[in-house]
Amino acid sequence: TSVVNKIAAGEVIERPASVVKELMENSVDAGATRVDVTVEHGGSELVRISDNGCGIDEDQLKLSVSSHATSKIVDADDLFHVGTLGFRGEALASIAEVSQFRLRSRTPDSDAASEMYVNGGQLVEITPCGAAVGTSIEVRNLFFNTPVRKKFLRTTQTEFGHLSEAFTRIALAFPHVHFTLKHGARQIYDLPPSDNWRERLAAFFGDEIATHLIPIDNADETIRLSGYVADPKFNRANNKMQFLFLNGRHIRDRALQHALSEAYRGLLLTGRYPIAFLRLQMPPEMVDVNVHPTKLEVRFQDSGRIYSQLLGTLRTKFLSTDL
Ligand code: ADP
Ligand code: MG
Repeated sequence: TSVVNKIAAGEVIERPASVVKELMENSVDAGATRVDVTVEHGGSELVRISDNGCGIDEDQLKLSVSSHATSKIVDADDLFHVGTLGFRGEALASIAEVSQFRLRSRTPDSDAASEMYVNGGQLVEITPCGAAVGTSIEVRNLFFNTPVRKKFLRTTQTEFGHLSEAFTRIALAFPHVHFTLKHGARQIYDLPPSDNWRERLAAFFGDEIATHLIPIDNADETIRLSGYVADPKFNRANNKMQFLFLNGRHIRDRALQHALSEAYRGLLLTGRYPIAFLRLQMPPEMVDVNVHPTKLEVRFQDSGRIYSQLLGTLRTKFLSTDL
């Protein structure tokens, strides 16, 4: 295990929240309908994620923790058609590099599960074990072998805050998946699957907000913009309640944030961040998600068009709503 690997791991894994994000995304990519997240001490001592997804074949276990190994992209062309959340094949390798990492998995056509243990990037063993179909991953003592990074971890409360945000973004993006989150003995969230996005929004932000949301749905041949924005009459701004998802991926986009503020201009008495939960769906080749390792920023092929679609949709909506 080289220093280079540890540095590379740091690019992807910054803190326990990054572990939660990457593992939850893998569970979603694996088609899981239930994902249970348990953490201890803000995730710095333990992050455990169990899913009922497709599992990993025993002979692929070792590969899953080697750098740049992904089962999600077969050739270079696929990079432009990314339909899964993951595609770099770096997350498991990076996490296993800087933790004590235990992965248990079973595929539907195997009658036993296998367990792999990796200690700070060193594969220790792969042994058979009993488990249900799906994958369960335990990440203990994050950064135990990179003391400098470990020093940058904040208090349990701060780390849990980040982790809970990461959890929220993914749970919001996939309302049809049952997610739970436990911190130590405390159950923080238990989110039954729902076809109605508003229910999932209410579970996080409360019924009051949920009842003041106006549905948005605008589609042209290629781009669909849907979701909810706060009724301007409700007149509450909160930058913690502005979420934008692109093909299921939480993103941040300055231009779209600007379009939102523009649409609400003169309608909000306080604050600059109107409450909004928006989903953009478009063909993957119209956007480059490969800009940043943590994939929060994306590059649209035609950002002007998306800006206009958002602004136009909201303006039309507000004109036709009794404000
Ligand atoms: P990526 O998601 O970019 O492909 P990861 O390092 O996150 O890379 O995961 C490596 C591989 O391990 C994935 O491509 C997938 O084949 C497998 N994998 C990881 N997590 C799971 C899971 N929860 N269920 C099934 N397969 C998984
Ligand atoms: Mg992944």
